[in-house]
Amino acid sequence: MTEDAVIIGGGFAGLSAAMQLARARRRVTILDTGAPRNRFASHSHGVLAMDGRPGADILATARAQLATYDTVTFRPVEATKLDGDIDAFRVATSDGEEIAGRRVLLATGFEDVLPTIPGLSERWGRTVLHCPYCHGYEIDRGPLGLLARTADAIRLAAIIADWGDVTLFTNEAIEPDAAAIALLEQRGVNIRSGRVLAVDGREGEPLSVQFDGGSAAVVKALFVMPESRVRSAIPHERDLAFRESPIGQIIATDEGRQTSLPGLYAAGDIALGPANITFASADGVKAGVMLHHSLILPAH
Ligand SMILES: Cc1cc2nc3c(=O)[nH]c(=O)nc-3n(C[C@H](O)[C@H](O)[C@H](O)COP(=O)(O)OP(=O)(O)OC[C@H]3O[C@@H](n4cnc5c(N)ncnc54)[C@H](O)[C@@H]3O)c2cc1C
Repeated sequence: MTEDAVIIGGGFAGLSAAMQLARARRRVTILDTGAPRNRFASHSHGVLAMDGRPGADILATARAQLATYDTVTFRPVEATKLDGDIDAFRVATSDGEEIAGRRVLLATGFEDVLPTIPGLSERWGRTVLHCPYCHGYEIDRGPLGLLARTADAIRLAAIIADWGDVTLFTNEAIEPDAAAIALLEQRGVNIRSGRVLAVDGREGEPLSVQFDGGSAAVVKALFVMPESRVRSAIPHERDLAFRESPIGQIIATDEGRQTSLPGLYAAGDIALGPANITFASADGVKAGVMLHHSLILPAH
């Protein structure tokens, strides 16, 4: 049987889209490998009415609620290939099956690529962070670091100064100009040059940021600027249009979240760039509704 929609990625965007389609009594299959982007953090913050709940719990509740709709199928498998076109897509899965769908939604989320500095990846989501709104409040002030990767570090450092005493580690990636220095001074941000070689420190204790030349700086948390990449090879294999965002390339869509391939939609981080659970969920709702309209109204 042909599904009305196959959703590739059952994170916040994918499940939100599925809910809209389920409530329209449409047939939906969700494929999900169970690795949402925030899986490295024990709790999620800033989500209305769910502040401090583990992200995995929020998703488990969403899956349980979706399971009560009899037109929804959830499959914990990877979508490996997308063939066909609008009204006749075929999605191959890692367990060797093929699912037919009139429409497909990509909601695979990002993979964050951290700078290759020893000590960062094992602390990712705990004391090495990217989003002050998500975890900055819990750090509870004190010395914070921001490891620059692009010129956007100036803007970020100025913002993060609301969460603590920030030092911007330029790490030979940026050279602040006079205007940047003035802004950072006004925000009380220190600037420290030199190449960062490693990050060290025991679990639960401040981090030691170690520099070329032997010196070190101690911070309670280090903010980094990962390069975020769209997960899944499907967008490249289907030659989708991409566009630049401040954190990496994202999938280009129209206002209704349709990609450059008719009938193929994209939502969540991969269509938004910088985002969070709430933005990704809202984006999934939008994509689900617009995808539903397209099943009825040919102009969509
Ligand atoms: C460390 C960290 C902490 C964060 N903390 C917060 C926070 O506290 N509050 C907040 O609002 N935001 C937080 N975020 C941001 C939030 O995680 C993302 O904005 C949100 O997860 C994006 O939702 P999404 O549905 O687009 O993608 P995701 O949630 O990443 O979901 C994508 C899903 O698709 C699946 N998938 C990928 N490829 C395939 C495939 N080929 N086949 C099948 N399934 C596939 C994945 O396994 C995953 O389950 C945090 C991010 C990070 C990195």
